[in-house]
Amino acid sequence: MGERIIECSDGRIKMRTCAWSPPGDHPVGCGMYLTVEDGKVVKVEGDPQHPITNGRLCVRCLTLPEYMYNEKRIIHPMYRDPKDRGKDVWEEISWDQALDIIVEKWTAIKDKWGRESIVTFQGTGREPALYHSSLTYAVLGSPNAVFPMSGDSCYGPRCSVADFLLGAGYPEMDYAQFLEGRYDDPQYELPKYIILWGKDPLFSNPDGFFGHSLIDLMKRGSKFITIDPRITWISARSEYALQLRPGTDAALGIGMLQVIINEGLYDSEFVEKWTFGFEELKQRVNEYTLEEIEEITTVAKEDIIAVARIYAQNSPSAIMWGLAVDTNSNGTQVGHTIMSLIAITGNFDIPGGNTLSVPASFMGKWRYECANLLEPEIRKKMIGLERYPGFQAAHVVAHPDLVLDALETGDPYELKMAWFFGSNMLANTSNAQPKRWYEALRKMEFNVGQDLFMTPTAMALYDVFLPVATFAEHEGVVLPHFGRNTHMVSAMNKCVDVGECKSDLEICFWIGKRLNPDAWPWETIADFFTQQIQPVMGITFEDLQDEGWHMNAFEYRKYEKGLLRPDGAQGFNTPTGLIELESSLYEDWGEDPLPYFAENILTPFSRPDLAEEFPLIMTTGGRETTSFHSEHRQIKSLRRLMPDPLVQINPETAIQYGISNGDWVAIENPFGRAIEKALITEIIKPGIIHAQHGWWYPEQDGEEPNLFGVWKSTINSLIPHKAIGKLGFGSPYKNVMCKIYKVDSLDS
Ligand code: SF4
Repeated sequence: MGERIIECSDGRIKMRTCAWSPPGDHPVGCGMYLTVEDGKVVKVEGDPQHPITNGRLCVRCLTLPEYMYNEKRIIHPMYRDPKDRGKDVWEEISWDQALDIIVEKWTAIKDKWGRESIVTFQGTGREPALYHSSLTYAVLGSPNAVFPMSGDSCYGPRCSVADFLLGAGYPEMDYAQFLEGRYDDPQYELPKYIILWGKDPLFSNPDGFFGHSLIDLMKRGSKFITIDPRITWISARSEYALQLRPGTDAALGIGMLQVIINEGLYDSEFVEKWTFGFEELKQRVNEYTLEEIEEITTVAKEDIIAVARIYAQNSPSAIMWGLAVDTNSNGTQVGHTIMSLIAITGNFDIPGGNTLSVPASFMGKWRYECANLLEPEIRKKMIGLERYPGFQAAHVVAHPDLVLDALETGDPYELKMAWFFGSNMLANTSNAQPKRWYEALRKMEFNVGQDLFMTPTAMALYDVFLPVATFAEHEGVVLPHFGRNTHMVSAMNKCVDVGECKSDLEICFWIGKRLNPDAWPWETIADFFTQQIQPVMGITFEDLQDEGWHMNAFEYRKYEKGLLRPDGAQGFNTPTGLIELESSLYEDWGEDPLPYFAENILTPFSRPDLAEEFPLIMTTGGRETTSFHSEHRQIKSLRRLMPDPLVQINPETAIQYGISNGDWVAIENPFGRAIEKALITEIIKPGIIHAQHGWWYPEQDGEEPNLFGVWKSTINSLIPHKAIGKLGFGSPYKNVMCKIYKVDSLDS
């Protein structure tokens, strides 16, 4: 690997770093060099020696200087009287003043209302996801850390189902990410087939995965099967592209299991030795006929059979399962069927299959340790603890939907102070029913938030604005999969300062030092990282900064070697020690231990009475390369590439509703309405539309009531807050009924 700092002949320096956030991103850790001239980052280049990304970057990192030095960026702490929320009347203050205000308000609110009256919100993907709950538990002393997405529908459901059924973290596809020789490593075997299930990594670069690795594998000969309602770049090159009806993935998984089991195509030795509940699973999947499954999914029975056979008969093969699994009322079921497919075909932890991770031993563990610092009486008050015990067991966070209810009703108790960790909640980054959140959070006594730009959420709700540093401006570590299946740890190396911005962790540190120094004993950020990584990786944070990234040796078939269980015994870290095709934990929580399909509450099938008025299915949440959810809207070169919110409509559907390419279109259902611009395209099936999320307009008036136009394209206003799936996971972001009609403008 190259030098950490290169001094160029023209006096500039190049700093090697690995990216995470901010700007928003998943922990992928792409390698790059940042060129610094006169104290400013002026150029971004991919690092060809980085073992995963090999010098490739996407446009968001390539435009980093435009983001860092954007005229709209907030670079000093600011205060505004709570009575002025929604008005652009901020006063610049010092960090000391900001921290004094926070400490004073926190003290008054906890003394009057109890620590549980404090609630903290994280955004998706960004770095404070590692720290915000630890700060909430160990420092603020509240049990209510929340990811405010209905049904916690992002990544958590997949990981939790893996925790429950495998006792291991998210089973990532083996793309040789753990091996020194990468694809040419003698241990590695190319996946014969890769099933992309509700996932489009070329666009999303999801948690811990660099999307273009799929192209590497395609070039080397892996074949693809895609399961997606839309045609994607990869599905256009796939052997099979199953364009299922959105939200019916669980039924498809059941159908594939049925074919593989009934035709005897499963790995009987693996099933016999390492799984629990096979007969029960067999019985369950045979409660459906393939004809029924065809009717539910709209995927031809012949295609279901063909794909099931291909997957079972071509070992090794891998399944990548994505956000569409989580943003689904059937999310738990889909995850259950996918893991059952991987298990019964013997594709777990073999070269070219799906990798298993050893139990999380840093960062994630620290989060649980911080939760254990909560006073027992306070911990019992975590919102949702009784209603969703499975959710709490895996996540140790408050349930988002019940938090919204509590904000609105004061039941089980009043919430009085909110802290936003880069969560632009009102701009549909993730949460359903943003107007309900807005109305509820306006009533708080005190709100503090940390972010980089004045967002609709900040303008509407913050009283104290804490300015956050980008990854070029702070030290940090990148943990793919947040430590749940980490192939390597990388260093974010600071190279410049911008204004008075501080990293999310530095801010947490300062608050921790003030409010509970015993729980926050580290002298420096570097000490903290060293304490986290050294026991597992054997290196200090400074070593890591010099190395750039660090991998530990990887072993396949860990279940045979006693590497998955804390007691060192063979098998899996589950109650039975086996992969639980029938979940004993689900049974303990009073839930069906086997997968099933259930229609969500707002489709033309579950609500035939509304089907005539709202005949279409809307799916949302697909990624664009030019933004990370609601971020990057003010970056001009990215906005030029994606100037308006787009709704994809099939030509047949467009003709039916008199809509032409480029028309403004209202999308409406009983829960809400949003306006986007029509993109007529055959990549989507007739009767289904895909609407972009996360839109607001930084160029518009930021004050209330306009709030940067945030209410105009609030696509998540169409998502009900009452369609939560099994165990409290999943919500139907991918399949709600709607109607569309042409309107004159975005302001109609
Ligand atoms: S995926 Fe794109 S935005 Fe994320 S770190 Fe890599 S280059 Fe940057």
